[in-house]
Amino acid sequence: MSSLNSAAEQRSLAAQNPQLAVARAGLTKTRLHDVVSSLAASDRTIEAALEKALLVADVPSPDVPSRKRKSSAPHPKRPAKPRYLVCQQCEADFDVTKNNPEACRWHPGECEPDYESDFWADHDENCHGIISTLRDEYPEGFIYDCCEEDGTSKGCEVGRHEAKSREGR
Ligand SMILES: [Zn+2]
Ligand SMILES: [Zn+2]
Repeated sequence: MSSLNSAAEQRSLAAQNPQLAVARAGLTKTRLHDVVSSLAASDRTIEAALEKALLVADVPSPDVPSRKRKSSAPHPKRPAKPRYLVCQQCEADFDVTKNNPEACRWHPGECEPDYESDFWADHDENCHGIISTLRDEYPEGFIYDCCEEDGTSKGCEVGRHEAKSREGR
């Protein structure tokens, strides 16, 4: 009941003050982190809401064969884990509750400058910049060595997102 009320309250606040949406859209990632941290530190209900949004219960993965559970021994409750993780394959962050065998597209190979390509025909590294450093600006002029697709291609492998392992593992 109270959560419904607060959701309705939030909606009406946003409607009364559209500038809030504008301000929120302009936040940098760093500023957003700061705001979220200080709000959570100042208000227990916000902290609880964040817990709900950012953590999921740690259930055993269906891929891992698990021992048969006896009905008399309920599964031990394990601490919650982060809901959003960064994928080591596609470098994007993903929702662990929505990961599936087709969630991720990536290239296992390297993305290298395609010097043979007409794309660079008129490019003079002395005045236009070193080609190998221009991948983000001109992905069309690059090629993946796994599949020969250009740098704009989304990925030649499809599978589940794989979370980056933590340091020290
Ligand atoms: Zn590829
Ligand atoms: Zn991924």
